[in-house]
Amino acid sequence: MAEMQKAIIYKGPGEFAYEDRPIPEIEDPDDVKVKSYGCCICGTDVNIFATPQKHPCEPGIIFGHEFCGEVAEVGSNVKNLKPGDKVIIDPHGPCGECDNCLAGLPEACENVSSRGVFSDGGLTNYLTIPKKFVYKVGPDTDPALMGMAEPLAGCGCALEKLNVHVGDTAAVLGAGPIGLMFTALLAASGCRKIIVSEPIEYRRKLALEVGATRVVNPDEEDIKEVVKEETDGLGVDHAVEAVAAMLVDCVYLVHPHGKVLQYGDDRLAHPEFPVAYLLANEIEVYGGYLGKYYMRKVGQIIESGVLPLDKILTHVIPASRYQEALDLAASRQCGKVFVSMDL
Ligand SMILES: [Zn+2]
Ligand SMILES: [Zn+2]
Repeated sequence: MAEMQKAIIYKGPGEFAYEDRPIPEIEDPDDVKVKSYGCCICGTDVNIFATPQKHPCEPGIIFGHEFCGEVAEVGSNVKNLKPGDKVIIDPHGPCGECDNCLAGLPEACENVSSRGVFSDGGLTNYLTIPKKFVYKVGPDTDPALMGMAEPLAGCGCALEKLNVHVGDTAAVLGAGPIGLMFTALLAASGCRKIIVSEPIEYRRKLALEVGATRVVNPDEEDIKEVVKEETDGLGVDHAVEAVAAMLVDCVYLVHPHGKVLQYGDDRLAHPEFPVAYLLANEIEVYGGYLGKYYMRKVGQIIESGVLPLDKILTHVIPASRYQEALDLAASRQCGKVFVSMDL
């Protein structure tokens, strides 16, 4: 009988459990067996456990998609990795064979693996994963920062659509971990003004630490007025939506021909859209979701320290206290939370 390990299992809306699962063995010669360091908590995880549920998830799976670890064993076809290598993992690996994959759109793969949401993820000790989804990082890379690879890949890949230039201006709505990553990326891209709107004081402070030039409490100030004031009445070049339901606000923050990126993900959000304003001002609206073709670069970003990710990562909590970690993330009195494996 297979040896067993503890895992965090998603049981259904609002519920998880610690259960025993078999330690997987390498069966495919292209597979890598990874010892998980743990997982960051994603806004999607918070939405999955929210009532009412704001994101679907498959009951019975090992939970957690923002995982990372070190190579424990490799299949006979794996030449670029060896035991002990630190690795980040793309949990949304595309199949490579469907129409969208063949059209060069792996982020729209019809059979995307979605580990930790729709199939087994990383909140356990060992897992096997195809080598094509495993990316090596330097031996000195901090495991908690490695856990930020998946969301950072999504943000970095999406930001490329805005084609940001040195000296540009930007607004970011929401300073949760995703809004903070965008703020750091915009700052590193040379934006001269980054105005961040966020109701939680803890997160406004973090935004200032990672590159915001001005923060706004939307409960006290009107972001539109602040943007006008900061841009001589013109509006910003780029507005990033990192909440879910504030796309319309973003449309009004950019100047004519400005660019808006929708990144906040809440499947219950259906904002009414100012169609006439959008077309009259020829505003460009983009959606961003998964970071395909970006994992290797993200590994390089994380190991190089070019972004202040250590400021965005505010808490490390062991997996044996997972409820506490979820509650903290849901309270929003934190930046990114890494759940370290101690099961
Ligand atoms: Zn995520
Ligand atoms: Zn596919």
